[in-house]
Amino acid sequence: MADKILVVEDEPVLQETLVYNLKHQGYEVDTANNGQAAIDKAKEINPDLILLDIMLPGLDGFDVCRILRKDMNVPILMLTARDDEIDRVVGLEVGADDYLTKPFSMRELIARVKALLRRVHSMQSLNTQEDATNIILQFNNLIIDETRHEVKIDDQPLDLKPKEYDLLLYLANHKGHVLSREKMLKDVWGWNYFGGSRTVDVHVRWLREKIEDNPADPVRIITIRSVGYRFEG
Ligand code: CA
Repeated sequence: MADKILVVEDEPVLQETLVYNLKHQGYEVDTANNGQAAIDKAKEINPDLILLDIMLPGLDGFDVCRILRKDMNVPILMLTARDDEIDRVVGLEVGADDYLTKPFSMRELIARVKALLRRVHSMQSLNTQEDATNIILQFNNLIIDETRHEVKIDDQPLDLKPKEYDLLLYLANHKGHVLSREKMLKDVWGWNYFGGSRTVDVHVRWLREKIEDNPADPVRIITIRSVGYRFEG
């Protein structure tokens, strides 16, 4: 079954070019021209990936990304036209999975799309295996239920963003290992993500705020100076 891609782009020529090239690759493609239409369409068709332009009439791409992220886990590849937008995307304030700066080549776009979808599919097959085995990881009062994608401390569910959950699960599966930022970036973000080590540090900080008693003096996720991190449980 073909993957479904929602293209959110208000420039008609670029939208047409994107649609043409993605269809040529065998994807099923749907479009939206503005922010609200993008949200409605995404909820209606439940796409496998969203290409999201930032400068849109009405709600902009940042708004759309934030709103969709509340209840959809779909990968979002943002299209930016200005350098000053990159920080917000890379800082993951909005939770985009990747971005491309205009102008970009269709070859590059297709490569990014394929990489993101590959990552999603490998996660899905992992989840299916977990469903059958109902894996629960426990570290004192911290419990990770992989089947339910649920994390609890003292039986209280934590509100983790999808990437925070992925990172925690990754750390938990590598308890006691010293992990470099580069390795974490590659393994959790799936490939050579542009955000670099800052992405890892930002997520570790967010995670510490949720799972450490005292985030300023962490005992679960230890910083290994000039290398990366180690999860102690
Ligand atoms: Ca635009």
